[in-house]
Amino acid sequence: MRRFYCHCGHEINFHEHFCKACGRDLAYDPKIGTLWSGELRDSNQFFAHSQGHQKNLLFQTCSHRHHDVGCNWLLIQGDDNCQCIACRTTRVIPDQTHEKNANRWFRLERSKRQLFQTLIDLQLIKANRPVEFSDLQFDFLEDKRSNPNLDLDHVLSGHCDGLITINAAEADESFLHTMKEQMQELYRSLLGHFRHEIGHYFWLKFFNSEEKIQQFREVFGDERQDYAQALQGYYDANNQSHWRSRYITPYASSHPHEDWAETWAHYLHIVDTLQTAQSFGLSIYEPQAHNFDHWFNEWRRVSQVMNALNRSMGLAEPYPFRVSEMVEGKLRFIDETIARYAKEHN
Ligand SMILES: [Zn+2]
Ligand SMILES: [Zn+2]
Ligand SMILES: [Zn+2]
Repeated sequence: MRRFYCHCGHEINFHEHFCKACGRDLAYDPKIGTLWSGELRDSNQFFAHSQGHQKNLLFQTCSHRHHDVGCNWLLIQGDDNCQCIACRTTRVIPDQTHEKNANRWFRLERSKRQLFQTLIDLQLIKANRPVEFSDLQFDFLEDKRSNPNLDLDHVLSGHCDGLITINAAEADESFLHTMKEQMQELYRSLLGHFRHEIGHYFWLKFFNSEEKIQQFREVFGDERQDYAQALQGYYDANNQSHWRSRYITPYASSHPHEDWAETWAHYLHIVDTLQTAQSFGLSIYEPQAHNFDHWFNEWRRVSQVMNALNRSMGLAEPYPFRVSEMVEGKLRFIDETIARYAKEHN
């Protein structure tokens, strides 16, 4: 994540609606990746106070700004949709008459916007050409565990032909924590779910020819093996001893598609965190440099520092991973695949 500053000079963050120092309203412009400070006029007009000699600019805000979702994004000029490019991809939301669901929806959308920001930065999504990913939709569903009135026992997060399902309860810290313990995971986060599932979505976009699929198989293995059987085998075996040298997480060992999505999510974790480190002067890596070896070495250094800082605070390590040589090769493949896709679509 980049750093942003209000017109008054105060540092502001990506999710904020107003500056805590001067009270100016804030709104994020996904097209140019800027958090503007300015003032809201009427209900959906935003007047940005621009720096230097430029004229002040007028935008429309997302209609979810004055809403439980509290979206702080702007509409792209000329777009006749009333919701921003992130909000409009949500198809089903958890029942808003149920007390906890307003906060769940808020957290879900906040994570989705952060995901979109990274995808726009990587040039995988064009903020000014949203029609190109109009096949992407999200359902935020509940099951019995979070809503006893429902018949459904388990909603699993997943992806199918552009439709991403997320269990709304994953927005609760307590649920995340319980699941993390139950599944013996080292890391679990709501943002991580979004990053994983969008990996399945982009797999379909990237590997659309026999030649490209063959390249995928050389790195991740043959994805034609039966998916349900592989997953069942993984859960039955509960054998977590041999994954470390080949996979980023135990779950990645269940099937080549899951390996891809897990490693892809990991790549996005690194992209966002390293950008933050760079913007705070903790890393010298320039995000535009596209030099994988340098990028990865910087990440090793930064993640070490991050873990050490947390240990000093008596907290768990935020980066409990060891990236083997094989996983490094997979990350490199993802890096090259993204670069190629971005080039082909520009
Ligand atoms: Zn300010
Ligand atoms: Zn929005
Ligand atoms: Zn998956």
